[in-house]
Amino acid sequence: MERLGSGIEAGRLSSNEYASNFSDLHPRLDKHEALVASDRCYFCYDAPCMTACPTAIDIPMFIRQISTGNPLGSAKTIFDQNILGGMCARVCPTETLCEDVCVRNTAEDRPVEIGRLQRYATDIAMETGRQFFERKAASGKKIAVVGAGPAGLAAAHRLAVNGHDVTILEAREKSGGLNEYGIATYKSVDDFAQREVDYVTAIGGITIEHGKALGRDYSLSDLSAHYDAVFLGMGLSGVNGLGIESEDLSGVEDAVDFIAALRQAKDKAAIPVGRRVVVLGGGMTAIDAAIQAKLLGAEEVTICYRRGKENMNASGYEQDLAASKGVIIRHWMQPKSIIGKDGPNGAHVAGIEVEYTAMIEGRLTGTGETGVLAADQIFKAIGQTFEASGLGALQFEKGKIAVDAQGRTSVENVWAGGDCIGRGEDLTVSAVAQGRDAAESINRMLAAGAQPSSAVA
Ligand SMILES: Cc1cc2nc3c(=O)[nH]c(=O)nc-3n(C[C@H](O)[C@H](O)[C@H](O)COP(=O)(O)OP(=O)(O)OC[C@H]3O[C@@H](n4cnc5c(N)ncnc54)[C@H](O)[C@@H]3O)c2cc1C
Ligand code: SF4
Repeated sequence: MERLGSGIEAGRLSSNEYASNFSDLHPRLDKHEALVASDRCYFCYDAPCMTACPTAIDIPMFIRQISTGNPLGSAKTIFDQNILGGMCARVCPTETLCEDVCVRNTAEDRPVEIGRLQRYATDIAMETGRQFFERKAASGKKIAVVGAGPAGLAAAHRLAVNGHDVTILEAREKSGGLNEYGIATYKSVDDFAQREVDYVTAIGGITIEHGKALGRDYSLSDLSAHYDAVFLGMGLSGVNGLGIESEDLSGVEDAVDFIAALRQAKDKAAIPVGRRVVVLGGGMTAIDAAIQAKLLGAEEVTICYRRGKENMNASGYEQDLAASKGVIIRHWMQPKSIIGKDGPNGAHVAGIEVEYTAMIEGRLTGTGETGVLAADQIFKAIGQTFEASGLGALQFEKGKIAVDAQGRTSVENVWAGGDCIGRGEDLTVSAVAQGRDAAESINRMLAAGAQPSSAVA
């Protein structure tokens, strides 16, 4: 066991424990299970599940195709709407989307397992390398896509299908965005994110250039000068700070960095974790960091959220999953100060002072009552922020890029989608839908020979 002299240690578990803790959360259904699960669907007319899906996949159709022994046809139905349907089958919070509104989701029954059926069909197609799209005749048009995350990949694929040549400019070493660096390890095992990038780009006409950051290596006006259209899908690269004393103390870390390091680690035993971990936040990132800290062998993991259970961005299912792994979720408390102590490697976090909160006259207010939680590692998971330069006169809303319903920005021939836009929903599936729809808008503009005027002034 590697000792860092601060309560944070690597190698807390045996190799078997790491393997079992980080195995697939929901392994793929086998053929018999898929047939049984698909038989439960009523194939509703005006199916509510389909309306709840941000990419509007024809869910009753793909389930019927599985039930008739046609998983490849089913995969085509899914990919027609969502080329990242494989990842979405793994990461979508189906419990708040399609499965929530499934007519079988009643007190006496349970919803059809739409997510797991989607995974069954898409896995079969991807494993057999089956492609369903052919590129249209070359248009001679060149499009730049900034960011190889879900939004950028979905946009690039739809543009390539329409015969355009796409160059994706990606700041990091690998493609996939948060699919590669953010999604919890147990949701995406076996290098699935990279296999999916390969599957998406196999259509042809898509070149990915890594280590190319907008704002550092080129500007938006450079792209506009060299390409017929530009799609911005850079996501959110900044993180919110706590704004409290001693936030920079050793042992206080960004949850997103911790998750990224874990995703990239070939050997999970190499990732150090505290004995007592506190996670600050109430969204999916907080839950993922907390669960993974526990799976790495932390003894005590506590999520502190400043509002109530019903206000958490993480779904009830995610909260229950955390509880089932032994994570404690404490509500109505906010961080007040970080407490440090001197150790062999200098000052290190020893705990966190929290203040209890309450809603008073409709406002979240500190009550003045405080307490201390012992901690040797604290993860900040209080939201990501949009950070980018080189964007020229682009207009913003809510600190992110302003777009109209088609994803058009305020700058001619520039579209945007995914987490970086003001109307982003911070979900993989929404980023895919926005990338795809922006690509269709770009395609219409190129076909018409001009960009129709954008609703963003
Ligand atoms: C920890 C965590 C867990 C999550 N878990 C889930 C989940 O389980 N289910 C779910 O539905 N959603 C989840 N989300 C949200 C989901 O991952 C995002 O909504 C989705 O990835 C957004 O896609 P995107 O393409 O807009 O951005 P990103 O995935 O962030 O991709 C943006 C890409 O642009 C690149 N880039 C950034 N800046 C530049 C630049 N200046 N120049 C060039 N390239 C640049 C980045 O390197 C990245 O590759 C999670 C998010 C986090 C942070
Ligand atoms: S709502 Fe449920 S039962 Fe109806 S089509 Fe969708 S999955 Fe099938």
